[in-house]
Amino acid sequence: MSIKGIKQAKKDLPHFDMVIVGGGMVGISLALILAAQSDWKILLVEAQSMNVASAPKSHYSASFDDRSTALSWTSRNIYQSIGIWDQLSKHLTDIKHIHVSDRGHGGLTRMSADEAGVDALGYVVENHWLGSVLIDQLGHHSIETLSNTKVSAVRPMRGGIEISLDGKQSAGDEGQQLIRSDLLIIADGSNSKTAQKLGIYSQCSSYRQTAIIANIQLEKKHQGTAYERFTDQGPMALLPLSDYQGQHRSALVWVQSEDAVEQLVMAEDDAFLATLQQRFGHRLGRFQQVGKRVTYPLSLTLATEQVRRNVVVVGNAAHSLHPVAGQGFNLSLRDVSALAARLNQAREIQKDIGSLEVLENYYQQQLVDQRNTLMFSDSLTKFFTGTSRVSAAGRNSGLLALDLVPQLRHGFAKFGMGMATSEAQHG
Ligand SMILES: Cc1cc2nc3c(=O)[nH]c(=O)nc-3n(C[C@H](O)[C@H](O)[C@H](O)COP(=O)(O)OP(=O)(O)OC[C@H]3O[C@@H](n4cnc5c(N)ncnc54)[C@H](O)[C@@H]3O)c2cc1C
Repeated sequence: MSIKGIKQAKKDLPHFDMVIVGGGMVGISLALILAAQSDWKILLVEAQSMNVASAPKSHYSASFDDRSTALSWTSRNIYQSIGIWDQLSKHLTDIKHIHVSDRGHGGLTRMSADEAGVDALGYVVENHWLGSVLIDQLGHHSIETLSNTKVSAVRPMRGGIEISLDGKQSAGDEGQQLIRSDLLIIADGSNSKTAQKLGIYSQCSSYRQTAIIANIQLEKKHQGTAYERFTDQGPMALLPLSDYQGQHRSALVWVQSEDAVEQLVMAEDDAFLATLQQRFGHRLGRFQQVGKRVTYPLSLTLATEQVRRNVVVVGNAAHSLHPVAGQGFNLSLRDVSALAARLNQAREIQKDIGSLEVLENYYQQQLVDQRNTLMFSDSLTKFFTGTSRVSAAGRNSGLLALDLVPQLRHGFAKFGMGMATSEAQHG
């Protein structure tokens, strides 16, 4: 579909079952899940380029940047159910062990896939590869896409929603278009501009922390181990990546207080690696090299509304979490999988997919999972950030308990795999 700056008669407006705004990890995944279920008429609108021809290293959008994502067991099931796990698995590294430690306070615990009775506790994918696979899959379905396009206005109507699109297809080819949809799905990331056009805002509580991400070249093989290390300055994670040109690699997520970040980001590579080594220790040998460093200010944001007649808000636009537990995307994928199932069910019994009843049912179904996951990520962050002796003692006993009581450790691992509240729904 292309946008042209022509005046349209209202009765001739292009009509869709659903318009998804935001072609990030969540928006594209939802489009693919929907398309795998039924022959929906879907339009996916993305503000940036979605050009897969320049794969694999380019950035398509905010989602598909230099980060890596730990996918949970449940996310695997969802991607498997729509037939894209095989393509994705070429780019994944299995998490066979999780090693949690508290720097300077002795607490330590380990979890293993064998103990949990699964192939892997999770799977790490570099976001640019996830983007490459997801965007490539769009071409296998009849999903219409518009890149370099934004929503400029949204008008709720009787029996649907009218959406004005502003597009820049190429230099000199700009235009507006009016379309109609039964359902508007807002997936345009944190502090969604599209939701704001409908008076839906986000409550935002800053952690006053920033995540620094970078790939680290290692001396020793990581053996499929994801390291989660809590330090007085903030948590860090090193997620296992596949070797690149014979070099062992892990993806670093290093959370720091806002005032400590600039110095670390501006530091020479050697100085950065020396500080990292001092905080992490030598379990992976000497750190050899650091790739590009990118920062993400961290906050907990929650949309004031997630469903309204003819409107659903999903992904980071609905909730964005601290990355310490690697849960944000996994939760959103469970949300959109549940949403797609509800919409499909509604269609089968000839119910209006934009009706508040259908959308409210979806929201109520996901509420417990959302609350538990938000609370888990938020309390983990707070529990492991305190520097007082009392909090350090609490952390030590928490980690010790995890290490000594297999059921506790099993429960913790299950939660990380996205199985704790959603097994029944997603297998
Ligand atoms: C450092 C870090 C590490 C993380 N690690 C993990 C992890 O290991 N596991 C995990 O589960 N989660 C992780 N997360 C969370 C995960 O990255 C997010 O949950 C995910 O990016 C949310 O995707 P999204 O598609 O909702 O939003 P986004 O990624 O923000 O994508 C939104 C898309 O909408 C587009 N857009 C914006 N405005 C408009 C508009 N007006 N019109 C059209 N399109 C628009 C953008 O260009 C973008 O493509 C991590 C987050 C961070 C910050």
